[in-house]
Amino acid sequence: MSRHIVVVGAGAAGLTVAQELRHLGYEDALTLVGGEDHPPYDRPPLSKRFLAGEATAEHLHLAGPDDLERLDATVHRGRRAVAADLGARTVTLAGGAVLPYSDLVVATGVTPRTLPGTAGLPGALTLKTLDDARALNARLRPGQRLVVVGGGFLGTETAWTALALGCRVTLVTPTPTVLPGLGGRVGSLAGERLAAAGATVLTHVAVDTVRKGDGLPRGGEIDVLLDDGTRLPAETVLVAIGSRPDTEWLSGTGLDLTDGVRCDATGRAAPGVHACGDAAAWYQPPTGRHLRLEHRMHAGDQARAVAADLMGGHRELDRVPFFWTDQGPNKIVVHGLITPDAEFEAHETDTGHDRFTGIYRTDGQVCAVLGWNDPRGAMGLRRALLTGPVAPASGGSRQVVAASG
Ligand SMILES: Cc1cc2nc3c(=O)[nH]c(=O)nc-3n(C[C@H](O)[C@H](O)[C@H](O)COP(=O)(O)OP(=O)(O)OC[C@H]3O[C@@H](n4cnc5c(N)ncnc54)[C@H](O)[C@@H]3O)c2cc1C
Repeated sequence: MSRHIVVVGAGAAGLTVAQELRHLGYEDALTLVGGEDHPPYDRPPLSKRFLAGEATAEHLHLAGPDDLERLDATVHRGRRAVAADLGARTVTLAGGAVLPYSDLVVATGVTPRTLPGTAGLPGALTLKTLDDARALNARLRPGQRLVVVGGGFLGTETAWTALALGCRVTLVTPTPTVLPGLGGRVGSLAGERLAAAGATVLTHVAVDTVRKGDGLPRGGEIDVLLDDGTRLPAETVLVAIGSRPDTEWLSGTGLDLTDGVRCDATGRAAPGVHACGDAAAWYQPPTGRHLRLEHRMHAGDQARAVAADLMGGHRELDRVPFFWTDQGPNKIVVHGLITPDAEFEAHETDTGHDRFTGIYRTDGQVCAVLGWNDPRGAMGLRRALLTGPVAPASGGSRQVVAASG
């Protein structure tokens, strides 16, 4: 009997599943449902080169018209799936079309969290899509005030880009440092660099209220009120406080949606249903836990594994997840998973070139390695991470990175 694989979500994960299926010889019907009215595109540049005006939308495309033609798939653009019936094996699209499937792949990613009071407030934005990035870019003019709420990757990257565009940037985070996921030492260094580049970085402080400005001559269009009483007027506020899986359309299906679509170690969520990418939490045999990551490379890796599984094969996930972030001129790469209690220790430092590598340990075991402007060094440590304990750097010159870097 011929199959019909329906992939919902036409981002990096969804497109990769479709392409890999064809690559592996799948010849039956294939449908790709994309909620956005754009060809599949890559998101990481949205806070970096695209936002800075250094890349066009075409640079971001993951598949051109010819690639999509070759995919020989029915592609729905600008149409969201609104429901699924796992028993009847159908997906319903906005507008009412019902697609029968033999296999469903959920690749719907995440959607940004917002702050109360920001819905419909002009100038209060989130950054997830190409359209979001265009809207933000249009406001980032020299001298304009931008308040970034959130000190994670998205918030800090955007702050750097806005500084480069000549904006006055204030970043607010309730955490002790920016990039808290990288630990206090690297986070402190990242915050110091951002401040040295001209941003006002406010840590240990949370946003109380975001509201329309008071209209006073020097007042902004928006007032951001902090819980210590500070008022930050701004023309633009970027709310970058994390995301939640875009899985509401699956509610009532019986799938476990506690934190994304819960899957086994091969991406299976239920009979006839797989999930991958930011929206999926896969079982990790070594830890006995489910893990959901929002990393670009991981999305592609899982997508290829799902395609293999759908074709009756098997493809191991990369054992060591990888992500990167561009903090202005500084490129940080991380291999592995940094646990909240991990301790960071510098491995090799080259102060002259503002470069170092480091190792995160939890309970004495290496769980991740980092490269600050040193992707090669981090790659070398990654090999060690795969094969066994990491030896001290030559000359035993290990040192903990001081906050002052
Ligand atoms: C601004 C930005 C910068 C980033 N920078 C980095 C970085 O430097 N390094 C890194 O490792 N990662 C980065 N990421 C994360 C990376 O982009 C994601 O991990 C990756 O895009 C995940 O791919 P995905 O296909 O799972 O989800 P997505 O790319 O989010 O694609 C999901 C797609 O599904 C669509 N969709 C949602 N619901 C429905 C529905 N009901 N019906 C139909 N379609 C639907 C969405 O519209 C979206 O197009 C960044 C993300 C953003 C937003």
